[in-house]
Amino acid sequence: MVSSSSPVSPPSAPSTQRKRGSSTDSIGMYAVQCCKCHKWRKVPTKDEFETIRENFTEEPWYCSKRPECSCEDTADIEYDSSRIWVIDKPNIPKPPPGTERLVIMRGDLSKMDTYYVMPNGKRARCTADVDKFLEANPQYKDRLPVESFSFATPKIVEDTVSHSSAWKAGKAKKQDKINVSSNNN
Ligand SMILES: [Zn+2]
Repeated sequence: MVSSSSPVSPPSAPSTQRKRGSSTDSIGMYAVQCCKCHKWRKVPTKDEFETIRENFTEEPWYCSKRPECSCEDTADIEYDSSRIWVIDKPNIPKPPPGTERLVIMRGDLSKMDTYYVMPNGKRARCTADVDKFLEANPQYKDRLPVESFSFATPKIVEDTVSHSSAWKAGKAKKQDKINVSSNNN
């Protein structure tokens, strides 16, 4: 199921802790797949994940890149439907200093949205927003080149959505509510 062209993947645990307008993204955990043994290894921080992702094509990731880890070790996590997986695109530039790149799962789990929190706290949702910001704040032009922004969104692995227990539980709850309200009518 994992596309070999984009093997960097942050599995996510969406919706539970997510609040509207929150500035944390929907990704609950980051992982990378070893190019040799194809085991999944957890990546402890978003920063580290963004570094791996940025150079992924030139520098494929191997277990031995991590201290005290080898392909002989058991996988950190298994690729299964106990959580929702989203597959990130490789070679996304690291967000420029002063910005944060967020990916947010839509409430219906149909799609993710990518945006940047700019140094003034405002959100940029597309390249045009970045242009606007740079026009209004020309002092950032050298530090925040437009080409360092990527609004690519991770691909949601549909199979893990439909089988995820959280998703099913949520659906079941919704169904209950519908049943209750139709009984009242
Ligand atoms: Zn390995």
